[in-house]
Amino acid sequence: MAQYTQAQIETLDKQHVWHPYSSFTSPLAPFPVASTDGVRITLMDGRELIDGMASWWSTVHGYGHPKLKQAAHDQIEIMSHVMFGGLTHEPAVTLCEKLVKLAPEGLNKVFISDSGSVAVEVAIKMAFQYSISQGHKNKNKLLTVKNGYHGDTFATMATCDPVNGMHHMFEKVLNQHIFAEAPACLFDEEFNEQHVADIKQKLEGHRSEIAAIILEPIVQGAGGMRFYSPDYLKRIRELCDEYDILLIADEIATGFGRTGKMFACEHAGISPDILCVGKALTGGFMSLAATLCSDKVAKGICEGEAGVFMHGPTFMGNPLACAVANASLDLLMEDKWQQQVANINAGLEKGLAPARALPQVNDVRILGAIGVIELHEPVDMPTVQPMFVEEGVWVRPFGKLIYVLPPFVINEEDLAFLTQAMINVVKKL
Ligand SMILES: *Cc1c(COP(=O)(O)O)cnc(C)c1O
Repeated sequence: MAQYTQAQIETLDKQHVWHPYSSFTSPLAPFPVASTDGVRITLMDGRELIDGMASWWSTVHGYGHPKLKQAAHDQIEIMSHVMFGGLTHEPAVTLCEKLVKLAPEGLNKVFISDSGSVAVEVAIKMAFQYSISQGHKNKNKLLTVKNGYHGDTFATMATCDPVNGMHHMFEKVLNQHIFAEAPACLFDEEFNEQHVADIKQKLEGHRSEIAAIILEPIVQGAGGMRFYSPDYLKRIRELCDEYDILLIADEIATGFGRTGKMFACEHAGISPDILCVGKALTGGFMSLAATLCSDKVAKGICEGEAGVFMHGPTFMGNPLACAVANASLDLLMEDKWQQQVANINAGLEKGLAPARALPQVNDVRILGAIGVIELHEPVDMPTVQPMFVEEGVWVRPFGKLIYVLPPFVINEEDLAFLTQAMINVVKKL
């Protein structure tokens, strides 16, 4: 294997490599990573960082968990991949069985895909194919709420916040959906009917066009890290039933314990008709996602004109990824995550409390194992990103938000170090 120096990697990266939301003219170069272990990211220059991001909500068991590594090694020896059209295998079947058991009641059918955005695309296609199959050919719109985020592909972009989202420049090339006001009722606030007035009005005005409501339950993630009331979500479920519209819950970020419940829908005691999971599904070990639906949706689709659901990615049901996901879900089912998330919650409350008094800070909010400091002003990434690295932590803010969602296995001492680093950086802004 070629051994590149750090300088060579940096040069090649700068010449050829796109990163998420990156520019080839930006002065901010990515930090080369040598390795990861547990809650630590080791840079090529030898610095060790405590990870606050869990690689975007995913590495809930930390990096390189022995059980996940073992599952991958074992599965590689047997079969790393085989096509899923016309064939099936144990890793996929057991994964679907586990997901159905864990998920909110009534979600009985599972479509396995490669990434979160694709899982949402599949959910949207299910909703539209269901409507078409039921003879509602003009139900060709989705209703969603502002500040949402559902992915970066074209169908999903069209459901992201139309103004503050990352995709408003594509307005003219995107499908036009219907946007209601963002959930105004915050997590601890008392819900009243006024909080759904706007979405009710949109349902009323467009009922013949809307196939489904799509939203992120309880936590709006990349669209602003907002936490909203379980009663609001409960009411949305009722409205979907009243108007005979499907509910798609995008739990790609919130799924698998992050909010203190296995799925955020459980805060409201509801089941959606379609559920998307991704991110933490393999414990952040590799890419995998899934879309679950009810028997009603599956039957509706299969009874229709096409007779089949019209989707089938090449790497669908990849055995290697499924085997790791099975091991990750087994770890979750050992049930340590609830205590771990509760401990992180307490550590975030304690560690981030001093931020509330800082003049730079507009709000501090914590839910489950998610901690958010919202500033008055957006951060300047080229300045701020190296400050966190100097502090010995990996935190990647966006806009006005400095947030952490550490691996569930982080201990009290590392968490205290992480929150202190956040306070130290905010003080300097
Ligand atoms: C990350 C995310 C997605 C997209 O998942 P990718 O794996 O990045 O395609 C969709 N919805 C939500 C809520 C997410 O947090």
